[in-house]
Parts: sequence; C-alpha cells; structure tokens
Amino acid sequence: MAPGRVLVIAGSDSSGGAGLEADQKVIAAHGCYAMTTTTALTAQNTKGVYDIHHVPADFLRKQIDACIDDIGVDVVKTGMLASAGTIEVVVKALVDHKVKTLVVDPVMIATTGAQLLPSESLQGLRTRLLPLATILTPNIPEARLLLADAGYGHMPIETSSDLDVIARAVQELGPKWVLIKGGHCPFRSDGTVARTPDENEIIVNVLYGEGQLIRIQSPYQDSRNTHGTGCSLASAIASNLAKGMDVVKAVRDGCRYVEAAIKTAPGLGGGNGPLDHFH
Ligand code: PLP
Repeated sequence: MAPGRVLVIAGSDSSGGAGLEADQKVIAAHGCYAMTTTTALTAQNTKGVYDIHHVPADFLRKQIDACIDDIGVDVVKTGMLASAGTIEVVVKALVDHKVKTLVVDPVMIATTGAQLLPSESLQGLRTRLLPLATILTPNIPEARLLLADAGYGHMPIETSSDLDVIARAVQELGPKWVLIKGGHCPFRSDGTVARTPDENEIIVNVLYGEGQLIRIQSPYQDSRNTHGTGCSLASAIASNLAKGMDVVKAVRDGCRYVEAAIKTAPGLGGGNGPLDHFH
C-alpha cells in the first residue's frame, strides 16, 4: 500500500532539530512520505537563530503546486510561515488544491527568543488560515497571542482547568480541533500551577473539538533537549492522520511519541538540544 503523503509548508532549521528537517525525520519515522516546501531558511543551532532568509512567496507556491499536481497529498502540515504575504499565498494554495486535512502549528517565537512570525502577520494567520485547519496546535504563549489578537483580555492560568477555557476560546477562532500544548506550564498533582517545576509535576495537553474535551497528561521531564518539540508533535499528528487515524488517536499517539523522543534525546549541542526522532 502507498504510504500516507504529508506535505509540509515550513521553515528550514540548519541544525536539524526543528522545522522542515525535524518534520521530515518524524514523518519518515512514522512510515509516511514527506514533501517539504520552504517558507524561509534559518541559520540556526541549539543556541539560537542567527539569521532568516525568506523564500519568495511565488516560489513557495510553485513548490506546493509541483508536489500536489504530481504526487498528490493526504495531509498538509504548516509550521513557520514567516510573513503575512506567505500566509496569503498558502491560504490560496490550500483552497485551490481543496486540501481536506490540515494541521496548523502556529509557530511564532522560538524557545531561544527569535521571532519566527512578525506580529503584524498574526491577524492573517488567525482570520484566514485558522478556519481551514482540521487541528491547530498552539503552545500556551501562542494561544495567548492569538486570543489577545482576537480581542480577548488576559486569561490567567491558576489551575489546569483554566487550560480548558483557553482551548474552548481558541477553537472559536475557527479550527475544527485545537490542541493546547501545556509544556510551558507544569502542574502539581492537585492541578495547581507548579512554581518550581520538578519531575513530580505533570504536563496537561488539552484537546478540544466536536464537543469533546480530552486531557492528555504526561510526566514533566526536566530536560534541556526540547528543541523542535512543537514541530515534531504536529508532524507526528499529521502522519497519524495520513495513516487514517481519527484526530483523538492521532493526538494521543503523537503526544506519546514526543514524550519518548525527549526521554531518549541524544544530547547534542550546547543549548536547547534536538529530540530522538528515530525511536
Ligand atoms: N526554527 C524553525 C524553522 C521552526 O519551525 C521552529 C518551530 O517552532 C523553531 C525554529 C523553534 O523551535 P523551538 O522553539 O522548539 O526551539
């Protein structure tokens, strides 16, 4: 049987831990076929992003057309979209090609602080791309930025049930499903925020859609090797969807994959190291 075809629209990470390079490894590790179309190149390693070179949006469109016109596609996954102009081109390509299954990782700011999407592009991402998404996978800072852009006031997080409120609000922005990734906010076992995280704490990811709210918990891992975690999770979900899983199973399996990939990370570089994509 032909493998599931996943088309990625994202930025390249020269150090291989995040972006297109991580996506391709994760998709291959899931037994799917990866196509990579490039929004931007980064000069990057585990310590930071040193420069960004934007690929012209009309060239990106040619890459997307070339892949889909010939090979076809089962699932599209977007990552770093880099500019408002690129978002417009991507939205048009998704509509023109009648893409049915879309995973949107709303990449905004790298762990090391680099801005991967200019703030003026947020509105285009929110109003044009989100309504096309089968599933949107923001972390907590990204969810907050999207909600602030939509006019919501600050949404405090005191207990893990506050993540449910954020998930419902983000889903109203248009995606069918939303997965709020809780990695930035470990909780104690009683559900309150852990101020000084240790390994007794838990991470709560909240999946919401079609009237269902599902909490997926994992033990907090005190690791410096989390570079590309968001890209890897979204690509694992995209691959699982391309293999025919439903959204809930695709997300559960994706979370387990990333949890294990952090555990056995190779410990490369002097900063925020890559995951073990091949376990
Ligand atoms: N570089 C690129 C090209 C990315 O797409 C991402 C994804 O979020 C990152 C860097 C950031 O990776 P992280 O914040 O996990 O270090």
